[in-house]
Amino acid sequence: MRADDEKIAETLRRYWGFDSFRPVQREIIDSVMAGRDTLALMPTGGGKSLTYQVPTMAREGLCIVVTPLIALMKDQVDRLRARRISAVAIHSGLSPRQIDIALDNCAYGDVKFLYVAPERLATEAFRLRVVRMNVSLLAVDEAHCISQWGYDFRPSYLRIAELRERLPGVPILALTASATPVVADDIMRHLKFAEPHILRSSFARPNLSYSVRRTDDKNGQLLRLLRNVPGSGIVYCRTREGTEQIADLLRREGIPAAAYHGGMGHAERTLRQEEWLSGRVRVMAATNAFGMGIDKPDVRFVVHYAMCDSLESYYQEAGRAGRDGQRAYALLLVASDDSDRIARRFEQEFPPLEKIKDIYERICSYLRVGIGDGAEASFLFNIHDFCAREHLYSGMVVSAVKLLQQNGYMTLTDAQDNPARVMFCVSRDDLYKLRVQREELDHFIRTLLRLYNGVFTEFRPIDEGELATWSGYTVERVKELLKRLWQLRVIRYIPSNRSPILFLNEERLPRADLYIAPETYQRRKELMQERFERMITYAANEDRCRSAVLEEYFGAGESVPCGICDVCLARRRAEKRQQGGEAAPGEAIAALLAQGPVSPQQVAAQLRLPPERIAEAVRRLLAEGRIVTRSDGMLELRD
Ligand code: ADP
Ligand code: MG
Repeated sequence: MRADDEKIAETLRRYWGFDSFRPVQREIIDSVMAGRDTLALMPTGGGKSLTYQVPTMAREGLCIVVTPLIALMKDQVDRLRARRISAVAIHSGLSPRQIDIALDNCAYGDVKFLYVAPERLATEAFRLRVVRMNVSLLAVDEAHCISQWGYDFRPSYLRIAELRERLPGVPILALTASATPVVADDIMRHLKFAEPHILRSSFARPNLSYSVRRTDDKNGQLLRLLRNVPGSGIVYCRTREGTEQIADLLRREGIPAAAYHGGMGHAERTLRQEEWLSGRVRVMAATNAFGMGIDKPDVRFVVHYAMCDSLESYYQEAGRAGRDGQRAYALLLVASDDSDRIARRFEQEFPPLEKIKDIYERICSYLRVGIGDGAEASFLFNIHDFCAREHLYSGMVVSAVKLLQQNGYMTLTDAQDNPARVMFCVSRDDLYKLRVQREELDHFIRTLLRLYNGVFTEFRPIDEGELATWSGYTVERVKELLKRLWQLRVIRYIPSNRSPILFLNEERLPRADLYIAPETYQRRKELMQERFERMITYAANEDRCRSAVLEEYFGAGESVPCGICDVCLARRRAEKRQQGGEAAPGEAIAALLAQGPVSPQQVAAQLRLPPERIAEAVRRLLAEGRIVTRSDGMLELRD
């Protein structure tokens, strides 16, 4: 153990340059090193990544990390590579060839971290290769995704259990920032823990002051906060239009502000994000698309202009304030008609079954997939374009797609860097003729066919860099040639881009055959409702410490009041007022007696203090000789 201690401290210093671990990080690492299956519960930003990264670097072998979001996966890989640690990510945005190469490197190379999207686990390429890898640890990030009771259930997470069977003796480390006790049990059961074992760090944020303002003048409250709290912050809005409106409002008030939402192009979002990170823009008015993976320590406030649909989201978004440990503010604005509005939205976002089937059909038609077609096909799919084209409310479509996903019909990935895709749209004979006619294209077409068989029948992801290497042309030339072939109507060509991808797991079914399990439907609806109600309760609460409410929601036992939320502050003010009244009851009595003799009962009635406190004050005044008791029992000031 001593040797391990040294090794771990040295690893932390050497690769990360940190001197010490944060609370619980060390315990988790020890547990993993001892080969125990472990569930680690730590808030976002708490430092979960190090708990699998440090033990992996301190030992031989490779760590497989299952994680759902491609953007975060890439971010992690980049960060590791910046520390000269060899890491790869495989996800559906790569060409099959790129995936093969990456997997081979994991089996035979010196790769330490393999990040993989859950839907990749079941593929042949992965299953064949994984048994050849020297795996020392299986880490499951966002582990709550495995639970139907969690707020972000993903069926592909259930495949991790199969992966475990292929890796006997390899311990598992499940990580999440949000697990109620039911979800925690579910995680350990589905991941086949040898025995239950949870390590949890506190969800308290001692420097973050939570408050809720019930008001019908949200703008006024927002501006008030902005005047009182210096520094930069985020205002979370429900809708894209909302972000623009708030940014406009703030700019009119002379506050540098920008809007941010998923409907903007990649370049624009990056630009605005950078302006905010650098402090040129003080306030970002954003939808919940903003913030994930962003590391700005000195965010001084996070305002929610509307309620989130769960406390998980609220905690996470609010928690982006005050990472530097300095005082920061999390304000939730609630209008009197919010609850009704939310109830209506809830109905819209939870479409009836028939509507879900309708959306399924419209998606398939939009993608031009006929009944019986489309099995295992993938498409670029921007849900907002789809909604705009079909005049559908996006909240409802998002919800419908989630249900279709949970029932195994499709998988929608987050926005990602997609490789270019190509498909030939001429017959082989015509292609042959063309190659003879246009010799200058022959070499390139041959390379294309050699590298990507299958391009005749379907869109295949291609890699322009790879084509350049094998053809001997520059990447620019390759792109020109692809465009050329496209203009000649020889190929269909989708240049590389950023868009979510929709996979159809099965062929398109006739409407009557589409089955949405009533259990998943009902359960999901109930779960959503339940979580929502907890959010509403949080907002309505006026007498429990807000931080304690949140901590208990995340499964902590009794927690101590934070002392800085609006509820704690109001209580403290009330106590002070009372103490103030109590500190000087003697003076109050003296003031009363200055107007004439009064009985002790009258004093008690006038001052509204407990009789024993009055008696005590009267005794003191008598002892000091400032008052006297008359023979009729009345109290009188001594002259
Ligand atoms: P999580 O996954 O729990 O949200 P991360 O693993 O991304 O959090 O870590 C959040 C930040 O905290 C990162 O910038 C990381 O470098 C930093 N961090 C983690 N552990 C430590 C530590 N022991 N000392 C200093 N910084 C740390
Ligand atoms: Mg993380």
